[in-house]
Amino acid sequence: MTRIPIADPVRTQAIVNRYLKTAKKSLGQNFLIDLTVIQKIVAAADIKPGDQVIEIGPGIGSLTEQLLLAGAKVVAYEVDDRLPEILQNELPQDHLADFKLVMQDILQANFKQDLAGFFQPDRPVKIVANLPYYITTPIIFNLLSSGLNFTSLTLMMQQEVADRIAAEPGGKDYGPLTLAVQNQMQVEQALTVSHRSFWPQPKVDSAVLVLRPLPKPRYLGKTAEFNRLVKMCFAQRRKTLNNNLKAIVPDKEQRAEIFEKMQVPANIRPEKLDLDQFISLVSLIVKSKA
Ligand code: SAM
Repeated sequence: MTRIPIADPVRTQAIVNRYLKTAKKSLGQNFLIDLTVIQKIVAAADIKPGDQVIEIGPGIGSLTEQLLLAGAKVVAYEVDDRLPEILQNELPQDHLADFKLVMQDILQANFKQDLAGFFQPDRPVKIVANLPYYITTPIIFNLLSSGLNFTSLTLMMQQEVADRIAAEPGGKDYGPLTLAVQNQMQVEQALTVSHRSFWPQPKVDSAVLVLRPLPKPRYLGKTAEFNRLVKMCFAQRRKTLNNNLKAIVPDKEQRAEIFEKMQVPANIRPEKLDLDQFISLVSLIVKSKA
């Protein structure tokens, strides 16, 4: 018997009518109703039988279902207490043994405790999610600092945020978020997704990125300091780097020395510097303060 996927628009509507009535906007609930998109996400995450997957926000289970059918073991974090009953009843019953639901804000997760006894502790996990968009960046940075052993993050997010993360130097999307993420992870753009692939439809289109942690951050000093100083360099985007640097390095001669060592003109705009140049710049700023 072929089963109708949860992601089918008619089945989603039936589930919503039966249990939910409405989606909670405050929790970023936009459920995927396009099976092809979900299959592309599962392929982008390279899910193989036996893979250990953490899903953030399973919702009514559209993506969870396909992860389970691909043979993954899934631990999912959710906060809407209307959803456990739906997941229990609607996910493929012959895969429920491979599914664990943790009713907890992902930003407060205790991975060690939650994964113990369900995942093999010596094997890395893959993280897959159609994210609740209101906390996209906190989730990424929390996962990075969590100590969790993961090989990839395959994440659906607003197109605009994906564009900022994947940006190249020079354009309007390039900035502190680009540099903070690319300092720690390799970024791959997997697919773009129309707002019509969701119920309810969000106003904007979405994109899926695959982020893979680098063995160590590119900037070898303190990551938090790198992120903070880069942010200050972009504080006034329209101004030159020299102008922005005044708040960090007030001494004119010290600034001139930094520009000379970097071999860039003082009137350069911050978005023109690539990641390597920002790494040199931050190292020089830190040195100037030592
Ligand atoms: N995965 C489902 C899908 O693709 O159809 C639902 C995705 S929906 C965009 C985001 C989900 O994240 C919702 O189910 C929402 O309740 C859940 N959520 C919101 N805030 C959360 C948080 N802090 N921790 C865990 N889940 C959260």
